[in-house]
Amino acid sequence: MDQKKIAHFKERLLEMEKEILENIQSESYEDENPFDVDGDLIDKADVLSSASLTEGLSASQKKMLEEIRRALQRIKDGTYGVCQVCGSEIEEERLEAIPYADKCKKHMGR
Ligand SMILES: [Zn+2]
Repeated sequence: MDQKKIAHFKERLLEMEKEILENIQSESYEDENPFDVDGDLIDKADVLSSASLTEGLSASQKKMLEEIRRALQRIKDGTYGVCQVCGSEIEEERLEAIPYADKCKKHMGR
């Protein structure tokens, strides 16, 4: 992959990281009254359990943040865009959809 494309994906990753971090901050203000949420009891329980997590960060947000940081590390290491299973280049359309993908289409989910 050429440097121009890597720079493009790096920018995408940094944007995603920023979005998640901004989300955490705004959520910790907006979720002051979790009972104001529309929906049934299950939804309310979900809001309560996620609000109790440290700094308002949900498990999926934590995981995504971790994935993004690992991808940024791979850019530094020069291994970005390479499938961790077979070592071939990850499809560009896949990286457009998921810039932190570390496996090609064939090996995703492994
Ligand atoms: Zn592969």
